[in-house]
Amino acid sequence: MTFKFQKSKELYDRAFKVIPGGVNSPVRAFKAVGGTPIFIERGSHAHIYDADGNEYIDYCMSWGPLILGHADNEVIESIIDTAKSGTSFGTCNHLEVKLAEHIVSFFPSVEKVRFVNSGTEAVMSALRLARGYTGRDKIIKFDGCYHGHADYLLVAAGSGLATFGTPDSDGVTRANAKDTIVLPFNEVEKLEKVLKRKSKHIAAIIMEPVPCNYGLIRPLPGYLQKVRELCDKYEILLIFDEVITGLRLARGGAQEYYGVMPDLTTLGKIIGGGLPVGAYGGRSDIMSKVAPEGPVYQAGTLSGNPLAMAAGLATLQKLERINAWNLLREKATRFSELVNNAISKYQENLLFVALESIFSFAFTRQKEIIKVTDIKNANMKLFAQFHREMLKRNIYLAPSGFEVGFLSTAHTNEDFEKTAQAIGESLKTIFD
Ligand SMILES: *Cc1c(COP(=O)(O)O)cnc(C)c1O
Repeated sequence: MTFKFQKSKELYDRAFKVIPGGVNSPVRAFKAVGGTPIFIERGSHAHIYDADGNEYIDYCMSWGPLILGHADNEVIESIIDTAKSGTSFGTCNHLEVKLAEHIVSFFPSVEKVRFVNSGTEAVMSALRLARGYTGRDKIIKFDGCYHGHADYLLVAAGSGLATFGTPDSDGVTRANAKDTIVLPFNEVEKLEKVLKRKSKHIAAIIMEPVPCNYGLIRPLPGYLQKVRELCDKYEILLIFDEVITGLRLARGGAQEYYGVMPDLTTLGKIIGGGLPVGAYGGRSDIMSKVAPEGPVYQAGTLSGNPLAMAAGLATLQKLERINAWNLLREKATRFSELVNNAISKYQENLLFVALESIFSFAFTRQKEIIKVTDIKNANMKLFAQFHREMLKRNIYLAPSGFEVGFLSTAHTNEDFEKTAQAIGESLKTIFD
């Protein structure tokens, strides 16, 4: 293997001088896995090509949005066509209506939806709305769930009972953190205890119905239902952050997949087809509190931007037309078979976790991942080694063992076979 990263290195050196850490989002810096971040020049189907001309099979897929693969023809055409008529008007536009109609028809609990420009913004807005609607200040989130970088969500303090948050980032004030209560995911009793004492102050429970930002954690059977029941009992709004799971686990996201309806849903990633989009939506009586209909203010210069709406719309239409969720399930089944085969010799040390088209590798002796602590205890040094070995074999995984991988409709059986072979070789290098 003759691998050159010369151009990526040069670009990274230049970037480092003018961009903090050389990156516009921290995990991209490869700190968790070592080495130089690769600079990608282009993508096609499931493949990406870096500045030095190396080709990779991509399992990061821009962190999830590219469910149809890179540079999907229909998505690109719709962006080009739309751009010819202008990039932004700051007025109403038919594409935002169309995309909103699609989202409302896809997501069983969403009656009205408002577009913003990122998942972070969607979550911030949904929580402001929940607070405005209930007149309560506090929110409950779960340890290990990522909801973007809003101040009061950068809190994942210990998973102790009713831990009042302490900030995870400098610059987040105690005042911001104090209204966030952090609890362990998949543990009903702790939630019940906190609600018994504090429910009158709690506006919302926000959760990734399937946590995908700290490895991949499945909700235990009945857990989401139980959270829903508790929210009903204490008149607390339930917010599903479906920025990853929406349109991925199923057409209508985790809410359809598990049959549990939240009051509000936040979306992002896939609904923008690779352009910056977020959205929040839900019950009509709650969404009617958003300005200008109601008193909860939220706005955006580029919100509902025609290019982003066009890319999202093209993505949703194609997903539906090709019945992507069946296709992805078939692909995921095949992928899992091959991967499980490739790792069978190393099962003592490595767990492959998958749910539909989402997966993660955990270097742990544990047999299942149920709690955040199960992943905290995994060996991230081994993951870093694994990442480097895979990269050498032209497989691009997200550069952190806490991140999940994604399949797209563009991944082929040949891609999977090559990947399985690379996994086998990489593990052999590491363990044998
Ligand atoms: C990515 C992500 C966000 C944040 O979205 P951005 O577009 O990066 O701001 C929020 N919630 C979840 C579950 C995510 O995976």
